[in-house]
Amino acid sequence: MTGTPSGKAPEAVTTTLRGIAVSPGVAVGEVFVLGSREVEVEARSIEPSEVDDEAGLFFGALESTRFEIEKIRTRYRSVIGEELVRVFDAQILILEDPVLREGTVQRIRNERQGAAAAFQAIISEAIVNLARVENEYLRDRVEDLRDVRRRVLRHLSGKSKSTLSHIRKNVILVADDLTPSETVQIPRSKVKGFVTRQGGPTSHTAIMARSLQIPAVVGVDEILEKAIHGDVVVVDGSEGHVVLHPDGDLLRRARAAQRRSARVSKERKRLRELPSVTKDGVFIELLANVELPEEIPVAAENRAAGIGLFRTEFMFFRHGKLPDEKEQAAIYRKVLRRMAPCRVVFRTLDVGGDKVLDPMSDSLEPNPMLGWRGIRISLELRDLFRGQVRALLRSSPAGNLAILLPLITTMDEVRGAKRMIDEVRKELLLEGHTLADRVPVGVMIETPAAVHLADAIAREVDFMSIGTNDLIQYGLAVDRDNMKVAHLFDPFHPSILAMVRIVLEAGKLRRIPVSICGEMAGEPLCALLLTGLGARSLSVHPYLIPDLKRLFSLMNMSDTAKLARKTRGMSSGADIREMAEAFVHLLESGDPAIG
Ligand code: PEP
Ligand code: MG
Repeated sequence: MTGTPSGKAPEAVTTTLRGIAVSPGVAVGEVFVLGSREVEVEARSIEPSEVDDEAGLFFGALESTRFEIEKIRTRYRSVIGEELVRVFDAQILILEDPVLREGTVQRIRNERQGAAAAFQAIISEAIVNLARVENEYLRDRVEDLRDVRRRVLRHLSGKSKSTLSHIRKNVILVADDLTPSETVQIPRSKVKGFVTRQGGPTSHTAIMARSLQIPAVVGVDEILEKAIHGDVVVVDGSEGHVVLHPDGDLLRRARAAQRRSARVSKERKRLRELPSVTKDGVFIELLANVELPEEIPVAAENRAAGIGLFRTEFMFFRHGKLPDEKEQAAIYRKVLRRMAPCRVVFRTLDVGGDKVLDPMSDSLEPNPMLGWRGIRISLELRDLFRGQVRALLRSSPAGNLAILLPLITTMDEVRGAKRMIDEVRKELLLEGHTLADRVPVGVMIETPAAVHLADAIAREVDFMSIGTNDLIQYGLAVDRDNMKVAHLFDPFHPSILAMVRIVLEAGKLRRIPVSICGEMAGEPLCALLLTGLGARSLSVHPYLIPDLKRLFSLMNMSDTAKLARKTRGMSSGADIREMAEAFVHLLESGDPAIG
């Protein structure tokens, strides 16, 4: 037996993987890896005398598949609703498709292939063709074809039982991909959440996960390499995080979040329609943070009042480089049109730090978080920045656009970037482009240096947005991605609250809007303190909007402000958190002493 020198089994290391959040909520459980469900197809040649039998087998398999799909459709209609049931109608139409049917029979006859091999060849060709289509919606329909392929081939091979039936206890399902019909058949009593390597937010699998209220994260690249049967895992379907081997504290918090989210998930649809006001009538603007254009429908669905932070780095990660000006403008325009008349705040490229990308960094930096990142890169690689600003301004007539500059530490950066934006505007007008009359320019306040300049900055920009993720990192000297110091990454730290207060006051004094867009803004306990400190605009992951509306509907701003005032005399983040927890507990129990 192998082992560590001490003879003990090595401790599993806590690993966080990121993916696309497609169905909100937190789930904790043991990994169940759903193995390959593809049926091995034997490539055998058949005799002429077998042609009719093989064709008969093929039609039989189509019929059995139709029967199976109809059964699923009837059984789950009430669970998933009329609209999603249409997915199964579409699958039945695929079974009836003359190209598939005749193509397969011809192949059996002319190529002398067995039914399974012939059908596989024909449908796989259709899948390859559809996968090439530019339209994302159509591409997602590849899932339906794959689902049909798998089912028909299972019938042809006589192995019609799904591997899902082998699931025994409460698990988090991990798979390369899940088809819509597999998703709908997931035994809810056993499966607490799922994670897939493939998939996108507009896929039916994602839509069904949402309607079934199963927390899910898709597009997690390394999940199949890192997760094995029985590993404990936390799935955060609101944030798009998957944590393998969570430590005790994380597990405790995840379980608490799981209980909380289970309580409110049923109410989500009702809650998101509520106005975003406190019990005593104070309006709090709830905006959405998005990282991908595909998340825009999720923001709209959750009634975000606009996009408070559109991180544009995704273009880099997807394409390996910034798309050219025209392509970028097309992306921005689409987003603006979808959200109009609501505001979309596009943040200019914030690469560097933890988002290092070749070819922009030719050597590793000793301290990337303190290195070449955010606005520093934009002001050096001027053509890159100019191209992005040109694309943004060119798209401006399509909606309500604002530009946000990341990682500001000096006034020179603010002025330099604004100068460049003005130059680009003039240049575009000279070229004859039509631009929106006014494009507000704001800055991220995410360094202590910017906090202390907030008043001066506020005189020169149209709005500010507090990025608490970096503000905590730089304010508390805690690497936001280093698990070893994760316990020190404390949004309740009195210094953080004090810095937020300074920025909010500067905005108020100079009469410019201030929004808070770090993760902290979406955490109900923190949102409570932030609004108590005076924040009236929070930009959060769209799934969190209903939860926050619920919180606001329970609280009186007058009490919340009192609570926030109390933190001024406190010196421990743990004490502040505890006080906020006690306050929320009283709110939840409807204590008349509050409000
Ligand atoms: C932040 O730092 O709080 C922020 C919103 O920006 P990012 O997380 O993209 O660095
Ligand atoms: Mg940041």
